[in-house]
This record gives sequence, structure tokens and C-alpha cells, in this order.
Amino acid sequence: MDTAASTSRQEIRCDDCGQNRPGYDIVHFGSIEKGYRQLCSRCFNTEVAKATGMEGFEHAAFDSIALSDCNGENHEFHFRSRLLVSGIALDAFELRDGNPAGYLFQIIGDAGEDQFALFGRLVEKMRRALSVKHLNNDDYGLQISDQGIVRGRIESDESPDGGLPLLVIDGREIGWEQFGQMLMTYEGSQFKLTIADKSEEL
Ligand SMILES: [Zn+2]
Repeated sequence: MDTAASTSRQEIRCDDCGQNRPGYDIVHFGSIEKGYRQLCSRCFNTEVAKATGMEGFEHAAFDSIALSDCNGENHEFHFRSRLLVSGIALDAFELRDGNPAGYLFQIIGDAGEDQFALFGRLVEKMRRALSVKHLNNDDYGLQISDQGIVRGRIESDESPDGGLPLLVIDGREIGWEQFGQMLMTYEGSQFKLTIADKSEEL
């Protein structure tokens, strides 16, 4: 499979445990004075737990899972966790060319929270999100669905004529101009824009 091949091409060796891990699982850890090390999530979380006195913390690694959306299309999700000073962030994402792309979800739990319980809450959140489509294809191409609600993620457009937001809606990339054309169906209407952290649920 293409994805797997490109993932393995981008593997980076963890400076602590020496294992080769995909690029998305590596954190640059350290400071300008002391220098940086490339650590896998497990070693990074273990270091943070040690530094913050979280005795007994054990990193839980989660295998990838496939979830289907409301159109019956399967999405393969990978997971990574990051221990923060005040909690733990668990991310779920799809991969394209070995990098996180498409649907991306995050949940933040308390530092002491059971990681499997947190994982369960994240999967429920993912299921809720995958059960809704905000865009649909009609005779005029991709359009905002009848509910008139769009949820998505703001990314940056890295194409040569970038500098504009690239939106990820229903796990697909939508250019700013393309989105503008979809809005023209609603000329004369009002709209409300809410921006929230990726760990929040809209
Ligand atoms: Zn490691």
C-alpha cells in the first residue's frame, strides 16, 4: 500500500530507545542551550512524566483503527499521545504520504486519566463527527449540504499561490476559492463563524 511505503521512508530513529518510528511519532525535545533530541512519543512521554514527578505513568500505544463515515467509506486512523504539563493530548489522524492529513481529532484528558478511557472518549467523538457530512455533490458540483452548517479545520495552503486558508471539511481539502464559490449559492444570506481549538467539539 502506498501509504505504508511512504510512511516507512520517513522513519526517524528515536535518540533514546533507538527504534525507527514514523515522522509523525517523533518530537524534537530539548532546548537551545542543551541541544535537541528526537524522541518517539513513548520516550517523550516518559521524560515528561519523570520531569513533572508523575510517578507510575505508563505510555499506552494505540494501534490504528478503521472507522466508516456516513457514506460507508472507510477511514484509517492512527494515534499519538503527548503528555503535557497539565494533562494528556491524544490525537487521531489519517495519513497521506506518511503525514497526518484528512480527518484529524484531538481530545485532552487529565494527566491522571486512564488512557484507555480517554481513547474510548476520542473514538466516540470521531464516530459522531464521521456520522455527518457537511458537503455533498449535486449537479453543480460540491455544495454545502442542506443543513447550512460547515465544520472543518483551517490549514495553510502550501501551493505557490498560497497565503490563503486551506480548509479540511469532511476530511477533504477544500481551497479557499472553491469554498467561496460554494458560498455564492447563499448570496444575500447571513452567516456565523465560530473558531475553536481542535480539542473542542463544535
Ligand atoms: Zn523512543
